[in-house]
Amino acid sequence: MSTEIAEAVAALTLVDHHVHTCSTAAPSLAGFGDLLTESDRPPARGTSRFDSQVGFAVRRHCAPLLGLSPHADIEEYWQARQLLAPAELDRRLLGSAGVDRWLVDTGFKGDEILDLPTFASRVPDARVQEIVRLETLLEDVVVSAEATTLEERFRVALDRASAGAAGLKSVIAYRYGFDFDPQRPSAGEVRAAAAEWLAELEGGATPRVTDPVLLRMALWAGVETGLPVQLHAGYGDPDLDLRRCDPLLLAAWIKLVEPLGTEVVLLHCYPFHRQAGYLAQAFPHVYFDVGLAVNYTGAASAAVIAESLELAPFGKVLYSSDAWGPPELHLLGSLLWRRGMTRALSGWVDEGEWSVADAIRVATMVGRTNAEHLYGSDHG
Ligand SMILES: [Zn+2]
Repeated sequence: MSTEIAEAVAALTLVDHHVHTCSTAAPSLAGFGDLLTESDRPPARGTSRFDSQVGFAVRRHCAPLLGLSPHADIEEYWQARQLLAPAELDRRLLGSAGVDRWLVDTGFKGDEILDLPTFASRVPDARVQEIVRLETLLEDVVVSAEATTLEERFRVALDRASAGAAGLKSVIAYRYGFDFDPQRPSAGEVRAAAAEWLAELEGGATPRVTDPVLLRMALWAGVETGLPVQLHAGYGDPDLDLRRCDPLLLAAWIKLVEPLGTEVVLLHCYPFHRQAGYLAQAFPHVYFDVGLAVNYTGAASAAVIAESLELAPFGKVLYSSDAWGPPELHLLGSLLWRRGMTRALSGWVDEGEWSVADAIRVATMVGRTNAEHLYGSDHG
């Protein structure tokens, strides 16, 4: 393995372009385990959540930061973790990730994780920017809207929210699937769908937008801002229908967006990261990452990272941790990515296929400069 590549990748300061903040409350050991899986169902019989790639990766890579040996058992790890105040734990693990810019999706279970100013105080040397989740914004707006005013109110709220944001995010894959009608819905269709939704909400239910017409309205309004639009794709919790999260289903919509110039960023993508690589090669405005999958595949993640570099042009692949909750995930995203990139790139260099200089340049693009081109690099 090339030491030159290993050293250059280890020294890279990353942009984590899709991440969430850390938990507000310290979890129990079982609760910590539950935060290391996308499943909300029980673990396999006779095992715990930690009998997984990500569980092993926590013990291997995070234990030394708590003063323990690599592979410390999970009870020992837990005891050492309990001795640290949450703010100190966050500062230590986040500070070791080597990230100086975090683009934070604030729209998922916001009451269980730190607000942006508190998160920013735990990464004092880094820049923290918001990614606004379209569906969350629509759900905030609907409580004071009528069927005839919902779209207009949403657009006003979106204008305001996007003023300070680095980008937008859609979870239409979760709420419906990518097999939606790719066209912009008409004002009449939106009014009719809004009336139905408002009628459902009359009983006092918490708003959760699932109507494809309203989801499409929000998505197209997002596209029209010109900010990069991130879309959850592929793997996630059992709430989604994975078959309908294949980004190839978005091809017709991607073609309609192309003339507007808005950039589309496919997040996670696993196990459809090869489909995402194809879309990134075919369309100038499509980017993707394999965040989330890197953490969950742990020691096997080098293969996923190498697969993300098959078809896609190198300027279209991004780094993210997609961490949510335990700061171990923010750190592991970075550690495992560095490890996987080093292995993949060194392998090609050792075989005489790539030069060391090209390998280091590509690592820098994926870890940092592609995100700077996409989200801007100004330090305002
Ligand atoms: Zn996420």
